Amino acid sequence: MSLKFTAGDLTIQRIIEQETTFLPAHDMLPGLTPELLAENRAWMKKAKALDDADTLILCFQSYIVTTPHHTVLIDSCIGNDKPRPGRPNWNMKTDETYMRALAAAGFSVGDIDYVMCTHLHVDHVGWNTRLDNGRWVPTFPKARYVFGKTEYNYWTEQNAKAEVPPFADSVLPIVEAKKADIVSSDHAIGDHVRLLPTPGHTPGHVAFTFGRSGKEDAVFTGDLMHTPLQTLYPELSPRFDVDQALAAKTRRSFLERFCDTNTICCTAHFPSPSSGKIRRKGNAFTCEMI
Ligand SMILES: [Zn+2]
Repeated sequence: MSLKFTAGDLTIQRIIEQETTFLPAHDMLPGLTPELLAENRAWMKKAKALDDADTLILCFQSYIVTTPHHTVLIDSCIGNDKPRPGRPNWNMKTDETYMRALAAAGFSVGDIDYVMCTHLHVDHVGWNTRLDNGRWVPTFPKARYVFGKTEYNYWTEQNAKAEVPPFADSVLPIVEAKKADIVSSDHAIGDHVRLLPTPGHTPGHVAFTFGRSGKEDAVFTGDLMHTPLQTLYPELSPRFDVDQALAAKTRRSFLERFCDTNTICCTAHFPSPSSGKIRRKGNAFTCEMI
């Protein structure tokens, strides 16, 4: 399994926390008809994206990108000690998988310069914080944490109506510790890293492009898509996309933008190896895994 690869002058490493069955395909993708699933079952199973019971298999991971200037961690996964009663696999877990994977990749928490979140859902912010004597403290002590402003404002509003636990235990403590950079959607870090607005899954969802002087060596998709089935059928939106119609539009235009380029597309949730190049197939796309 490929955990480390290069793109231009970047080194990219995957830090996997879980790779497992998630939700039944029909449940997660309301637009998926039995006929469509039947047509695609064989290749989806071969890609280890679907099990024998038609349950989708997802990877939950962070990416660490080493540029000539910085070490950047993208999406901080699920985390430990967090009350997530709706998800038994994530609830109050105490395993060392994530920290071991970080060490195996050659990093300590002090090596990370930036933590960047594509959006503020539970499985993308978890390791932002860790429990220390009953308090949530930043896991990566030297890092600036980059959150998109539209996304941050959206969850601030939601959290004011009713507490959103991942926002309260994994985002607000970072802001309180004065480690957060809440940035606009045209933000860039040096000449290497740029935000690319990709709204729909959440209102302020962003992808990140990495590369120098207009060259895009890699792009990190976050949750603008969850399963390779959506490259072939970009109009299939999961039921938890906040705006399913906008998410579908964003997905197709994103895939069109990167289709037949050299940019490595690093997805958050596709099964291992999770990353590849977007190629045209008929009126849609495939992701040719690296
Ligand atoms: Zn996710």
